[in-house]
Amino acid sequence: MNKKDSEIIAAVLTQSGYVQVSDEDTADVFIVNTCSVREHAEQRALGFIAGLKHWKHARRVVAVVGCMAKRLAHDIATRFPFVDIILGPDAYRKIVTFVEDSLHGTRILETELTDETYCGIYASSTAVTDFVSIMRGCDNYCSYCVVPYVRGHARSRPFDDICQEVENLVQHGVKDITLLGQNVNEYCHGEVSFAGLLRSVATIPGVFRLRFLTSHPKDLNNEIINAVKKCDTLCEWFHIPMQSGSNRILQLMNRCYTRERYLNLVARIRQAIPCATITTDLIAGFPGETEDEFFETLDLMNTVRFDDAYLYRYSVREGTKASQYPSLPETVVKRRLQEMIMLHGKIMVEKAHEMYGKEYEILIEAPAKNNASRGKTRGNKDVVVHEHLNPGSVANVIINDVRGRTAIGTIKKGA
Ligand code: SF4
Repeated sequence: MNKKDSEIIAAVLTQSGYVQVSDEDTADVFIVNTCSVREHAEQRALGFIAGLKHWKHARRVVAVVGCMAKRLAHDIATRFPFVDIILGPDAYRKIVTFVEDSLHGTRILETELTDETYCGIYASSTAVTDFVSIMRGCDNYCSYCVVPYVRGHARSRPFDDICQEVENLVQHGVKDITLLGQNVNEYCHGEVSFAGLLRSVATIPGVFRLRFLTSHPKDLNNEIINAVKKCDTLCEWFHIPMQSGSNRILQLMNRCYTRERYLNLVARIRQAIPCATITTDLIAGFPGETEDEFFETLDLMNTVRFDDAYLYRYSVREGTKASQYPSLPETVVKRRLQEMIMLHGKIMVEKAHEMYGKEYEILIEAPAKNNASRGKTRGNKDVVVHEHLNPGSVANVIINDVRGRTAIGTIKKGA
């Protein structure tokens, strides 16, 4: 979401004649887009902002934007007097005015949450892959999560506006588009449901691959699974954050599903689409998690054998419900995360070996070492291809080597 928001900010500034530069010495405006999801991200952002004190001078502007700017606006203003602009995630439309005001000495602090969806702002792209934001905010209030407090309530972007952005990206050569939202399954605008949106966007001329991120297990229904099954351009990849394998912990997390319901969802996806890849997010050491409950998460990992997983240790977020629960000792949380990482690594190596000898359609994204290329399967798995191929090209590749958890292949002869 932050990457997409940075593109929105860049698009607003570019439309007003600003030019994006990669060398900070030549920049006049420095914008730091921040994340609040985990404490570590905030600490890194705060350290980075502190370092900008040496960059700043009277004719330069420093802006801190995003979720942390919303959450810690007054702290940032006090701790870093050289920061000129502090903006929450809904204030980017006015960033040009704010930059100009700050050059005249006005300090800006704008963190109000609104119904903003950035309708009509289309970031241009020359990349092979890109994101299209279809909704903002979240109403689910998972007990550990700060998102509803810093990004506001869930609202869906108009259908026509999404289609327009997708058409623009396709015309610029983007081949792999991910529809983005905190819980995309809840997308609803007028008569258009998420499954309806998927079916429509998937048939826009020029769309080669379409994905979506993130799904909530309580809302991923058969209509969505069927849309993926039936639309050729919709990729068979489901990212479904599980968070814990224990029903008691899931309840404390306010996730609104059980382990059994999650396993049923996985079974329904695999029955409908046998080649589907399923990835997840898991949290180690949620407050009060017992050894047995943690073992249930390991057991679930062994049962589902996720194609990939983002593994986190629990991070206390001030203001959330879970922040009122007593935390587990740091050593326990770290050790549990380590156990999850070890198990996941083992499963990933096994999964990579399962690809051996099989054929995949690879969309090339970037060069790799030794004149090779790196790309992705429709299931979002990384593959290294021995040949040099231009980004954006597509090849049918047979996997004939595996190094660690990376599958390596060569182009199918005669393809
Ligand atoms: S669904 Fe839960 S975890 Fe995801 S953004 Fe909303 S509150 Fe946070």
